[in-house]
Amino acid sequence: MDGMNWLVTGGCGFIGSAFVRRLLAADAPVPGGVVCQVDRVVVLDKLTYAGNPANLEAGQGDPRYRFVQGDIADGPLVRRLLGEERPDLLLNFAAESHVDRSLEGEFPFLHTNVVGTQVLLRAWTERGQGRFVQVSTDEVYGSLGEQGVFREGDPLAPSSPYAASKAAGELLVQAAVRSWGLDAVIARSCNNLGPYQHPEKLVPKMIALASLGQVLPVYGTGRNVRDWIWVQDNCEGLLRAALSGRAGRVYNLGAGQERENLQVVGHILDRLGASRDLISLVADRQGHDWRYALDSSRARDELGWAPTMSFEQALDRTVDWYRQNPAWWRPLLAGGAP
Ligand code: NAD
Repeated sequence: MDGMNWLVTGGCGFIGSAFVRRLLAADAPVPGGVVCQVDRVVVLDKLTYAGNPANLEAGQGDPRYRFVQGDIADGPLVRRLLGEERPDLLLNFAAESHVDRSLEGEFPFLHTNVVGTQVLLRAWTERGQGRFVQVSTDEVYGSLGEQGVFREGDPLAPSSPYAASKAAGELLVQAAVRSWGLDAVIARSCNNLGPYQHPEKLVPKMIALASLGQVLPVYGTGRNVRDWIWVQDNCEGLLRAALSGRAGRVYNLGAGQERENLQVVGHILDRLGASRDLISLVADRQGHDWRYALDSSRARDELGWAPTMSFEQALDRTVDWYRQNPAWWRPLLAGGAP
């Protein structure tokens, strides 16, 4: 796989920027990682409240890197960009991504996650070549009880407008595969953790509040379970799905590291040397899924992928990064997460 051109939408967000950093270092050896030649990385990002060009300082000065500010739902812009850059692969990270915001106002989620995805699919299909990777989420499955794991063939039963819009985006990808013969794969990742995540999300929000000595609000009983993956491990899975996933396939990317929210928050407080008395249980989120867990054996068997970092190591690294970079998150916290 030599000399490929990549288009990354939403590349100024949390996971997209980690993926771009990985691409720009793609010919460097990464433990357990794929080596590939990268000729060009073009980022298309609207720069919503969640998009931050500072996340991609690594790209500045690299002649392979180009940033374009714009909306994935802007068909003429997308077509112009595809004509100019002729990318071999498109990874669609662009999304409205926060469940709580979707409960307050769903329409930006429908605009980007549904309409925007369809605009990309149509424009990409018109080119008649290249692979499309839809970055999706375990939230499309809905909730598990205490037992079991989700497999790729399980029904989609989303609980929030966010999850429903991501499920709709996936169904449009599958329709484009069947109707138009699009070469696409879908990756459903579990909860990511790592640097550069907006402090509206659980892990960075709790680190930020604890660093400021403020109360840490935790939904419901705090016993809800999520599967946690180091963001670079997820990016490695996405890279492998892009390069060697089977056309039309869905791949679960889970780490098998289930933790209750209170365990996550407790670990953060311990790492910061702060008191667990800062935790305050608050009224539960509407439609709050109880538990997510993924069977990722398809990605392991077909892509040769496996996560490398333990939850505890990943969380320690994340806490340390936020502790060392308050100038990155403080203005975002002040900007007001719901
Ligand atoms: P994020 O909110 O940090 O970043 C989203 C990015 O998309 C931002 O840079 C934003 O400016 C951009 N964007 C939003 N609307 C746009 C539009 N209309 N046009 C162009 N750009 C637009 O999100 P994230 O956490 O990095 O998630 C990236 C993807 O991964 C999303 O599709 C999300 O559904 C999925 N995902 C995230 C997680 C997680 O744990 N964060 C887990 C599973 C799946």
